[in-house]
Amino acid sequence: MKALKERILQDGKCFEGGILKVDNFINHQMDPILMKSMAVEFVRRFAGTPINKILTIEASGIAPAIMVGYLLELPVVFAKKKKPSTMENMLTTTVYSFTKDRSYDVCVSSDYLCAGDRVLFIDDFLANGNAAKGIIDLVKKAGAELVGMGFLIEKSFQHGGDYLRGQGIHVESLAIIESLDDCKIRIKE
Ligand code: 5GP
Repeated sequence: MKALKERILQDGKCFEGGILKVDNFINHQMDPILMKSMAVEFVRRFAGTPINKILTIEASGIAPAIMVGYLLELPVVFAKKKKPSTMENMLTTTVYSFTKDRSYDVCVSSDYLCAGDRVLFIDDFLANGNAAKGIIDLVKKAGAELVGMGFLIEKSFQHGGDYLRGQGIHVESLAIIESLDDCKIRIKE
């Protein structure tokens, strides 16, 4: 998506270990106009796929997910990173975060991720695919069906996308970063 690619080149910053910071428009300050355009693009790319629920993971996935849910007029559920003591019918999985170098539990209530749901997962980044694998596990535990996964930014050099596409999942990424070597951002044309 042209506008996103241009914004990454303009405002994105590279950090050690293959991390791209986009705090200026996605992860800290947010640009709602760009966020809306990205959601419109997801709606276009997943048109024709029957979906009844949007799923994301807190915190950074919530903004794009709610925009998609708003456009499609569908409920948006976010998986939580802290287990609330009051959550009923909890489904859990463990996710390894390479940006934080630790594992954490992610949970969702089966009151909101239900058997028979046709789920579109939306998140900010796809890197090694660990968060996505956790989501696949939660969707399976709920007895729901994962019909697609949409990411604002995919870092193809970390290969999560290869794994997900290899599983036959419909994956759409709005900008694909091929390399951050030498702190230079190379984006797929
Ligand atoms: P994965 O589980 O695919 O390895 O990583 C995905 C998650 O890690 C995303 O939800 C995102 O929050 C975080 N993440 C991975 N790579 C980056 C990055 O380069 N920049 C930022 N800001 N977050 C990242």
